Amino acid sequence: MTGASSSSASPHHGLTDRLSRWARGLSGKPEDSETTEEQRARVGGAANREINRRRRLYDEIGEFLFAHDLDLTPLNFGVALDYLTGANITVEKAVRAVLMERGKITNGWMETVVASQRADEITPDALASMLDKVEENLSQFTGLMTESRNSAKDYGAALQEQAKGLEAGGDNEPILSRLVGLTRSMVEKTRQVENQLRESQKQTQTLKSSLESARRAAEHDHLTGLPNRRAFEAVLREELQLARERGEQLSVAFCDIDHFKLVNDTHGHDTGDRVLKFVAGLLSKISDDRCHVARHGGEEFVMLFRGKTAAETCEAVDAVREDLATRSLVNRTNGERMERVSFSAGVANVLAYDDPRAALKAADRALYLAKEHGRNRVYLAAEAD
Ligand code: GH3
Ligand code: MG
Ligand code: MG
Repeated sequence: MTGASSSSASPHHGLTDRLSRWARGLSGKPEDSETTEEQRARVGGAANREINRRRRLYDEIGEFLFAHDLDLTPLNFGVALDYLTGANITVEKAVRAVLMERGKITNGWMETVVASQRADEITPDALASMLDKVEENLSQFTGLMTESRNSAKDYGAALQEQAKGLEAGGDNEPILSRLVGLTRSMVEKTRQVENQLRESQKQTQTLKSSLESARRAAEHDHLTGLPNRRAFEAVLREELQLARERGEQLSVAFCDIDHFKLVNDTHGHDTGDRVLKFVAGLLSKISDDRCHVARHGGEEFVMLFRGKTAAETCEAVDAVREDLATRSLVNRTNGERMERVSFSAGVANVLAYDDPRAALKAADRALYLAKEHGRNRVYLAAEAD
């Protein structure tokens, strides 16, 4: 099995050192006796390949738009990009389906597909209307409280007034009957308030659960159940603060499934979805209150490790990589064995950078190199990156 863990005692060091020196362009000769010139040429080659990949994608977007005679609008560019890169699986599926069915796409259809995407989102409008309801609920509640406080006060005053008229030995009959009347009306009022309160409580409960599901939907990926990128960003901020306060390590890892497009193309999207869930489950197994995993998008996951050095993080991620790569998965739809599924990963020490975004970028670059060098491996970013 290839991968960063191939050397036995200290799995990442050889590779890590080589990568660090290589990325920094230092002159120390690594064990594979590559010269610095060769190393530079390879880095340059990788950069050129990346530019070529982007150029190809740009051309493909143009071809797609012209093939279907689509207007050059940001919306059409966005859909074409989502379809061609597979970045948005729902859009990709919808385009495939319409191409199979009609073979042609129109401007109108592009707008519909984007609109139906938005329907699933929690829009600012939906949130605003939820907040309006909360506000209405609160003011109703406050009104009820004031009303019941006032009627209790009035009742107390009226009672006192009537009590003054009670005389020892006198004819207290009319006063007593007024007191009975007052008490009855107070009991009635209390009952009304109680009913209104019960109603308002029910509404509050409904609102609470829709707010909770809104929050969940806004922060979780519905396929894998993992926190999404947005939620991860908040976790990163919190963990960074904790790590700084406590003087602990903090490392980040990007994991991207290898040749996942091929899994989809060979076995279909539903099987692809199951593979995604499976990988999400494997990564989640090592997560705890100091290790967080999130779906960063598509077939990419991001992990954050507090209390682990970047090298220790490499080891932890590499253990999951090895576990996955040595499994033989079965396609549940037809019982056939699937080709091996693996992922590549890039790891960076968050605290080595002033801005955590720079650490994420460095981990992403290390991931890119892991892909370039054959996939199914975990690479550590050079800190000077
Ligand atoms: P590489 O090893 O370079 O990462 O190759 P790759 O094929 O994994 O990468 P590429 O970016 O070319 O393709 C990613 C694929 O992931 C394309 C898209 O169809 C698929 N994908 C993204 N999200 C989902 C999803 O939610 N479900 C399924 N089934 N596929 C998805
Ligand atoms: Mg991939
Ligand atoms: Mg990817």
